[in-house]
Amino acid sequence: MKKMTLMNPGPVNVTDRVRDAQLRGDLCHREPEFSDLMLLIRKNLLKAFDIEKEYSAILITGSGTAALEMAVSSCLNPDRSILVIQNGVYGERIGKMADVYRMSKHTISYNWGEMPKLEEVEQALQKHSSIEVIAMVHHETTTGLLNPLPEIALLAKQYDKRLLVDCISSLGGDTINFGQYPIDFAVGTANKCLHGLPGVSFVLHSKKDLSRIKDLPARSIYFNLVEHLKAQELGDTLFTPAIQAHYALDAALEELLEETVDGRIERYRKVAKDLRKGFKAIGLEFLIPESHQSNCLTALKLPNGISYDWLHDKLKENGFIIYAGQGLFSKEIFRIANMGNIESEKINLCLKVLKECFTKIGK
Ligand SMILES: *Cc1c(COP(=O)(O)O)cnc(C)c1O
Repeated sequence: MKKMTLMNPGPVNVTDRVRDAQLRGDLCHREPEFSDLMLLIRKNLLKAFDIEKEYSAILITGSGTAALEMAVSSCLNPDRSILVIQNGVYGERIGKMADVYRMSKHTISYNWGEMPKLEEVEQALQKHSSIEVIAMVHHETTTGLLNPLPEIALLAKQYDKRLLVDCISSLGGDTINFGQYPIDFAVGTANKCLHGLPGVSFVLHSKKDLSRIKDLPARSIYFNLVEHLKAQELGDTLFTPAIQAHYALDAALEELLEETVDGRIERYRKVAKDLRKGFKAIGLEFLIPESHQSNCLTALKLPNGISYDWLHDKLKENGFIIYAGQGLFSKEIFRIANMGNIESEKINLCLKVLKECFTKIGK
């Protein structure tokens, strides 16, 4: 297969070191070698974000949605309610999860790409004293918008609510100041900005919050956060994990610790800036204002007369994978992510190919 540069928001290109780690050898997950590997991954996740004292990392085999479902299904007292802030596909997915688990739910919904209004979040908190948990997405990958995490976290603190954040597409790419504002559940995955491979995802859970959730009635067998945590603390796992994805995540975390999270974020910021400069020079328009954009993905309007499929295929012929818009945006936008191990010459080449696409068509 031709080597492709993945400019979709995960799975990402990984280094040879991460890819080769999958071949460390066959292993039974009930053996001490796997216990040691799991403990090291859990420890290094916390170490990378400098939260070893305050948080526990709970791993789960599955894509990012698995960890999200583990956090959502385990976070709420049945007598209380959850407040979900939605302004894209992923916020709406949290709402759907709350419904599937028959949670009492309040939602604040915005058009995709619109910034949540803090007054409205505060009003909801004042109006519904039953709210126990606020749930939100940090980087809403639907549009590339970075939601106001610090501000909402401070509201959560002020109103003594727990905060659950889907950081799946921002952890390692955009700043999250764990020390400065309280997040009770931060959900992440191996194969976006952490540069691992698909198959394992995780929740970073505040240790302080454990006493609140540990005796809540179970809503799920596979997605039970407390049961996973109890087993993992003993070096055990509930079910068969994706061993090779764990090997790869271990290698990816070694790389992250070498680069540091701050270093990685800086690199992403710079690449996004270079890309956006190039997009503007080509004459492409952003879906949302530049000041609202994450470091990880740019949503661009499809110029008149150009279909996404045509553009996708042209880029693919040249070795680049881009991403479509979702739902109501599927005919209007395309998305270019800059997650993963992408060499800088590929960034310039991608811009060059894009430019050729639009010049040919007379844009
Ligand atoms: C990628 C992503 C997910 C989960 O995707 P999976 O396909 O389950 O890995 C969830 N939320 C956000 C914000 C994402 O970007």
